[in-house]
Amino acid sequence: MIPVTKTYFPPLKEYNKQLERIWKNEWLTNRGELVLELEEKIKNHLGINNITLNTNGTLPIQIALNVLAGCGEVITTPFSYVATTSSIVWEKCTPVFVDIHEEYLTIDESKIEAAITESTKAILATHVFGNPCNILEIERIAQKYNLKVIYDAAHCFGVTYKGQSIFNYGNVSTCSFHATKIFHTGEGGAFFCNDEELNKKLFYSHNFGHNGPEDFHGVGINAKMSELQAAMGLTVLAHIDEIFKNRKRVVDFYNNNLQFDSINRMLHREDTVWNYSYYPIIFKTEQQLLKAKKILNENNIFPRRYFYPSLNTLNYVIQTSMPISESISVRILCLPLYSNLSSDDVSQICLILNKLNN
Ligand SMILES: *Cc1c(COP(=O)(O)O)cnc(C)c1O
Repeated sequence: MIPVTKTYFPPLKEYNKQLERIWKNEWLTNRGELVLELEEKIKNHLGINNITLNTNGTLPIQIALNVLAGCGEVITTPFSYVATTSSIVWEKCTPVFVDIHEEYLTIDESKIEAAITESTKAILATHVFGNPCNILEIERIAQKYNLKVIYDAAHCFGVTYKGQSIFNYGNVSTCSFHATKIFHTGEGGAFFCNDEELNKKLFYSHNFGHNGPEDFHGVGINAKMSELQAAMGLTVLAHIDEIFKNRKRVVDFYNNNLQFDSINRMLHREDTVWNYSYYPIIFKTEQQLLKAKKILNENNIFPRRYFYPSLNTLNYVIQTSMPISESISVRILCLPLYSNLSSDDVSQICLILNKLNN
């Protein structure tokens, strides 16, 4: 079977080495040696000054919203993983959807101003499939209306925009290190914040609000990463260059061998170094997508409909019409892409799709 993605498993011996450190320390959580070391290694690897590891990629979004958006309105994208919207609703904020760019698949910044009201507190936008939003324009709007910007950068490990890590942008950026993501700790995530004051608030929030053992800054939750997760992270990070190289090989093969007459690709924003995180293709109609999916499934190949459905159609939001997001979400399919996907398999996928499109 060829799934849409496969978790990267590092050599077990190397993982055991990290576990031995944990057993020796007899220390499992509360920011132990391995978590601190992983933070330093990620900082060095990405060239960033600030990271706080979390136990998954959803809690940092919720913490950022909790600290920055109160129970206000949050302008957001309908084209993302459900966690982007569910976090807003979970934090008792109100999602206000703004449609996306047909080519870039990110929030259409030219439509943001029309959605701003007195109650708007923040913009929560996703760099979809590692493709950056129009960061400069969103920054300008946020400054003009005194809004906070949170980027769901769950797909963005290793992406740079205008020469620096994409995690440096926005008041807060978040990432996911879930097993299906490009760099992973099994379950895991992080927030990135270069504003010292704000970063302190986020940091306290992710650890129950603790200020030492007997004092509290305020309300908080538990989003700490454990040593066991960090052990996986340290082991995987040692192989990250090889992971990128292998994924690039698959992406290059798709790019060079798929016929793009009746399917489209996402347009990458300029000044971006991308990370080969996903390979979405966009059909002309949903019928074409369903036909392709069926034939691939019959050949034991299982692409995924990311992202479907459009999040403005969830049954727990105020439903508004988002024509572009709704149209894209029924026509977009992510093709298998993982480190050890063989050339024969990619080649077979291309053959099937090309035959279908002729
Ligand atoms: C994976 C993902 C998340 C959630 O991350 P978890 O680590 O699974 O909690 C949030 N947003 C987007 C866009 C994602 O793809």
